[in-house]
Amino acid sequence: MTKCIYCDFNHPDHIGAEIYSGEYISETEMYDSEWSDGFEYAYLKQKNDYFVLVTLHTDNEFYSWDGDETDIKFCPMCGRRLESEDDDD
Ligand SMILES: [Zn+2]
Repeated sequence: MTKCIYCDFNHPDHIGAEIYSGEYISETEMYDSEWSDGFEYAYLKQKNDYFVLVTLHTDNEFYSWDGDETDIKFCPMCGRRLESEDDDD
């Protein structure tokens, strides 16, 4: 199986590498970074038994980060199945 840094949740925050930079950045570091340069972050995060794709982008009205979470079953970068095999549907 292909190793993929984006769905390898060995980061202390249980997140994969940030998708645009390919680097491990902590969530605190991302939220603390300078948003005025138009940065955008995206990373996969493990939340108990499910996985989400988190996208952080600037909120122009509130001048802060706005985070969207999308439930995913497969890694969007390598296609690896993330959820457990024994789902109940
Ligand atoms: Zn992957």
